[in-house]
Amino acid sequence: MKQPGKVLPLALKLFVSKPATVSYPAGDKQFPDIRGKIIFDIDLCIGCMACVRDCPTGAIEITKIADKRYKAVMHLDRCVFCGQCVDVCPRDALQYTAEFELAGFDRNKMTFEM
Ligand code: SF4
Ligand code: SF4
Repeated sequence: MKQPGKVLPLALKLFVSKPATVSYPAGDKQFPDIRGKIIFDIDLCIGCMACVRDCPTGAIEITKIADKRYKAVMHLDRCVFCGQCVDVCPRDALQYTAEFELAGFDRNKMTFEM
């Protein structure tokens, strides 16, 4: 517990220091190291299915469409941005983007094919 004599200087220091939070949605939206919408570079995919297996919400589908060619479907409405898929991919085919304002009214518009 803080001693009473130390509380006032601390309160004054916090009163004049910059806030640790940002104003949203009106403020600057440049956040460092943000986990936004996941994108695929499907040309790098080798179809190992590690991302599909590790995704805790079943948000990813990978389908073979030809020899060494794959199609990815991302159900963004299921993604919890845990990053498992990005970490596990042996080819770095999945990446975060800075796009984080992803709310919508239509779930059908939250499925992306790559
Ligand atoms: S970030 Fe997590 S929830 Fe989202 S697709 Fe990747 S593994 Fe699934
Ligand atoms: S983990 Fe990477 S290489 Fe494997 S299926 Fe997913 S995107 Fe393709």
